[in-house]
Amino acid sequence: MNRAKSHFHSELAIIPPVATVIAVLAFVLMQICLLGLLPHYEKDIPPMPAMVLISIFGGVFVAIIVLMIGYVYADSKRRGMNPLLWTLLVIFVPKAIGFIAYFLLRKPLLEPCPKCGATVGADFGYCQKCGYALRPFCCHCGRAISHDFVCCPYCGKTVAAAATS
Ligand SMILES: [Zn+2]
Ligand SMILES: [Zn+2]
Repeated sequence: MNRAKSHFHSELAIIPPVATVIAVLAFVLMQICLLGLLPHYEKDIPPMPAMVLISIFGGVFVAIIVLMIGYVYADSKRRGMNPLLWTLLVIFVPKAIGFIAYFLLRKPLLEPCPKCGATVGADFGYCQKCGYALRPFCCHCGRAISHDFVCCPYCGKTVAAAATS
């Protein structure tokens, strides 16, 4: 629970400050338009308490969307995806389909090579810069396996615990 919470916080921390500023501005603008300007021009509006509720919920809703767009921009960038393309997609594809597509299709996080620190793709077997083996390989057939595999899923032979070559 605590870990999930701190994970959520660290995810929020990647939202670019400019997105936070736009979100706050959007919220304030919504309050000015609905509570300040609209009553002057439109006589046929709901009573004031209802208007306050509408403008606060509307403002929060718009602010959250702006923050989510900022998150998609930063998150797609750190995953080696095209940030501009994905940001435009989540803005212009209606009914949140852009967001849903993003969270279904996003690539795993990029991690630095333990040896040279270069950013390597999550599905890479070797570092593209220094050739370091990023994952263990089966000592029988040579294909990439996972650290916790007991048997190789490709050739079926038992793999030693120290399969990293
Ligand atoms: Zn490397
Ligand atoms: Zn094998």
